[in-house]
Amino acid sequence: MVKDDCIFCKIMKGEIPSATIYENSDFKVILDVSPANRGHALIITKEHYDNIFQLDAETAGKLFSLATVVARAIKEETQCEGLNVVQNNGEVAGQTVNHFHLHLVPRFKGDNVSVTWKQGESDSNDLAELAKALKKRI
Ligand code: AMP
Ligand code: ZN
Repeated sequence: MVKDDCIFCKIMKGEIPSATIYENSDFKVILDVSPANRGHALIITKEHYDNIFQLDAETAGKLFSLATVVARAIKEETQCEGLNVVQNNGEVAGQTVNHFHLHLVPRFKGDNVSVTWKQGESDSNDLAELAKALKKRI
């Protein structure tokens, strides 16, 4: 499926230019135009899926397999010391382009990139109950 008003669908079709670093029948990997750091790449599905809730497991498997290869290429080229894999789903989670994509963000000591959160608290009974409920859904 392709969405006419979707910026990433337009990039997939070549209607909007992108700095493409890899492409196959399932994915295009491009450099983010507003990178958190130099080398920030996006793995984008060729098909339009809004987010992870629509993505099928087979495509997701291929995607992560490709992510390992791209991550190593970014590490070799940028000499980054670490790398964050980030994937936002829904406006509340920071998704701004509603076409599935995975961020690969190279990290350097002292950079000002932030992908962390304040650690919360949990209750052991609630954790156990929730785990039981979720287990049934998988
Ligand atoms: P997200 O907030 O997870 O939806 O991420 C969307 C990402 O797409 C942002 O990091 C943007 O900088 C990036 N982006 C938006 N438009 C373009 C574009 N035309 N080419 C490359 N990256 C883009
Ligand atoms: Zn799209």
